[in-house]
Amino acid sequence: MKIILMGPQGSGKGTQAKLISREYGIPHISTGDLLRAEIGEGTDMGKALQDIIAAGRLVPDETILYMAGKRLARPDCADGFIADGFPRNLRQLLELKEVWSVDLALQIWIDTRTSVERLATRINCPNCKATYGPKKPPKQEGICDECGAKLVQRTDDTATESVIKRLELYWSEIQPVLEYFRSGSRLHTINGDRPVEDVYAAIRASIEPVYQSSRQEIC
Ligand code: AMP
Repeated sequence: MKIILMGPQGSGKGTQAKLISREYGIPHISTGDLLRAEIGEGTDMGKALQDIIAAGRLVPDETILYMAGKRLARPDCADGFIADGFPRNLRQLLELKEVWSVDLALQIWIDTRTSVERLATRINCPNCKATYGPKKPPKQEGICDECGAKLVQRTDDTATESVIKRLELYWSEIQPVLEYFRSGSRLHTINGDRPVEDVYAAIRASIEPVYQSSRQEIC
């Protein structure tokens, strides 16, 4: 089962992708996480990526196509994956052949004001990627409930100017991608302005028919 998960920053994509990955046993591939891992390595490329991300710009398509293509070619993606953060624009869609044939494209929708508010208060676990905010605080302040690591705020989430730039870019670049999946009747839009469990219940309702038919094909 191949799924693409789209949504503006702060829509809860990462949280929902983890839940989907856990329940349906498909790997969660996030270009944001792949890029942050490269930054964590401290390479020259990582330093250049850090500057781009902190400025709220998009990483060049060539870098994304290389990183995502390499990751999707690994054997664990052969039977499916949940793509989080890509394709972000038409070129990434057209050049990543693995994503043309996805079974389902999900869009978690929230408005810009909600995105800005959520990003300003979001803290993340750099280790297991769990996210927390006012509605879901960690049990112990500053410490991840799931793995005990120290929580941090992403540098690209702190400046409102950079956040707004990222959101404007997101909406302009994603339109043709949404159109592609909408015209193939594979796009499901989910209201993301609800508690995590309610968003996940709606996502599950979209996935289940696809999951059941993929199981029948295997049988
Ligand atoms: P995310 O974790 O998805 O919010 O991504 C963080 C940042 O990584 C974005 O603001 C972009 O700078 C960069 N990025 C992630 N995915 C992509 C992509 N598919 N294309 C271009 N840049 C990306």
